[in-house]
Amino acid sequence: MKEKILITGGCGFIGSHTACVLLESGYEVVIIDNLSNSKVEVIDKIKKISSKEVTFYEGDVCDKKLLKKIFKQEKIDVVIHFAAFKAVGESVKLPLKYYRNNLDTTLSLLEVMNEFNCKRLVFSSSATVYGSPKSLPIKEDFPLSTTNPYGTTKLMIEQILKDLAKSDPTWSIAILRYFNPIGAHESGLIGENPNDIPNNLMPYIVKVANKELEILSIFGSDYDTKDGTGVRDYIHVMDLAKGHEKAIEKVLAETKIDCYNLGTGEGYSVLELVETFKRVNNVDVPYKIVERRPGDIAACYADPTYAYKELGFKAERGIEEMCKDAYHFVEKNK
Ligand code: NAD
Ligand code: UDP
Repeated sequence: MKEKILITGGCGFIGSHTACVLLESGYEVVIIDNLSNSKVEVIDKIKKISSKEVTFYEGDVCDKKLLKKIFKQEKIDVVIHFAAFKAVGESVKLPLKYYRNNLDTTLSLLEVMNEFNCKRLVFSSSATVYGSPKSLPIKEDFPLSTTNPYGTTKLMIEQILKDLAKSDPTWSIAILRYFNPIGAHESGLIGENPNDIPNNLMPYIVKVANKELEILSIFGSDYDTKDGTGVRDYIHVMDLAKGHEKAIEKVLAETKIDCYNLGTGEGYSVLELVETFKRVNNVDVPYKIVERRPGDIAACYADPTYAYKELGFKAERGIEEMCKDAYHFVEKNK
């Protein structure tokens, strides 16, 4: 048996896929989640996919008493910290909710990890910390800035982690900056299916294809991009999950703090994604062009070479597979 990994927010979209990948590779997995944006059924689905056991604690990562109980009972080797709120628009309306949850979970976790001398961490950051990049593709050493409270929580946590590692160099931390994760596990058992009206493009496309929503609004067709619509670096969530396994190997092998882009390096426009989705799934996705969404940037894609060099990570799945798997999940769970 390999190391024991604590996954905070492990019932969520990225956490559940990462749990499957880690179990498959022989790691032991412990999950803590308060189910604020997920369902407990996910635990059974992870067990079904992996045919392995998972220890689940339902509770809040801000609850230090519970965290201490977990660290006492389980001998945790590495923590992956996913638990956070992530809706950009909501963070603008309710900034305190975002600062409280995203910072408090992290501070409570770090304090308890310190107490139990567990100092290996993989942290979920985001490409949003690059703000409006001056050039493309984006490298890890680009200047950092944010345009909304959600992004600011990620940037603040990155700074907290850097200060911590500076004060105590026995910490080993991998900060992963995700680009745009989409798709689902090939089984169709787990995936992304927000209860509310989705903010993100792929879950919105899926709901329009499924006739749960009438029409997709494409936010702007006058950007300086190949067809005028926004360009993003979409990465299959199973590739992203694999990136976490590589980051675990890194924090176990080397004691340092570093940041890594997890993307494919390829940019696709909104129209390209919609057309690919329609073609590979043989469904209609009606759309209309509307105003730009405030705060959006024209284009954003990663330079993935540093993650390849340092972690040996390379995304393998293409845009067609991402579109097929995203729709398969919703079809299967109708
Ligand atoms: P998600 O909402 O599906 O998963 C987050 C999980 O954390 C949920 O299951 C939720 O119930 C749980 N959670 C939230 N606050 C908690 C708390 N206080 N205590 C315990 N559990 C709590 O989100 P996701 O898409 O899987 O994202 C995971 C992480 O990756 C987040 O930190 C997010 O900010 C980051 N991220 C996501 C994306 C994306 O596009 N999905 C992009 C960049 C970064
Ligand atoms: N987008 C869109 N319609 C939607 C949601 C998103 O046209 O209903 C566009 C958005 O303007 C951006 C791209 O799709 O160019 C990806 O947006 P998403 O919110 O998924 O991710 P972001 O990169 O903004 O975090």
